[in-house]
Amino acid sequence: MTARLELRQVTKVYGSGPTEVRALEQADLVVEGGELVAIMGPSGSGKSTLLTIAGSLEQATSGQVLVAGTDLSRMSGNDRARMRRRAIGYVFQDFNLLAGLTAAENVALPLELDGVRARAARGIALRALEELGLSARAGRYPDELSGGERQRVAIARAVVGDRQLLLADEPTGALDSATGEAVMRLLRATCQGGIAGVMVTHDAQLASWADRVVFLRDGRIVDQTMPPAGPESLLTAETGR
Ligand code: ADP
Repeated sequence: MTARLELRQVTKVYGSGPTEVRALEQADLVVEGGELVAIMGPSGSGKSTLLTIAGSLEQATSGQVLVAGTDLSRMSGNDRARMRRRAIGYVFQDFNLLAGLTAAENVALPLELDGVRARAARGIALRALEELGLSARAGRYPDELSGGERQRVAIARAVVGDRQLLLADEPTGALDSATGEAVMRLLRATCQGGIAGVMVTHDAQLASWADRVVFLRDGRIVDQTMPPAGPESLLTAETGR
């Protein structure tokens, strides 16, 4: 089976000389379809950098990034942009829904931008919303939805079409803990459908929803574990310098 995401010895350096920052140092990571991986680590340890490089929003300084077996650095800029649009979905802490569009229109938008006709895009969007339990909310505007519902719409938007990889940056950061857990349950179920998920979180309890937790420190992957028995041990690992 081809991994959906593979980082091989990825290094990312920002700046040069005295201002040089090595945000990622020879990171290796493989995420298979159906798998949800949580990324944890102190502030500044490279979590966001890892996510933006995996999503091809930034290029690695050295090393290789493969999405669904294709090396991003060997693709033309256009092909990379198409890959980013078609194969990769993003979920952010602040939902990023367009206020002037309904839930269904928000979910259909990436498909329409990719050339799918409006009617077909709407059908696909409605099915995605249905799978996330949001059929009754399809015609609502974001400000008529709760925070948890908005995040579920954002997840639907991130997985419509033929997505291979779901990248989430603190997806439950703006939600209360019960709603956050419900969103995690959906994220996990979505990944079990075959997509590979990578999620940055500060929250050990939420990380325990993942199949695997990857710890970063100073740009290096220092540990990759199966979720331990309780979240307390994750907290120790995160703060135990
Ligand atoms: P985290 O998400 O774990 O907080 P980041 O990936 O945002 O960490 O940052 C890792 C390191 O890279 C930090 O030292 C940060 O200051 C630096 N960094 C991130 N983005 C940039 C940038 N665009 N220019 C310069 N330095 C950056």
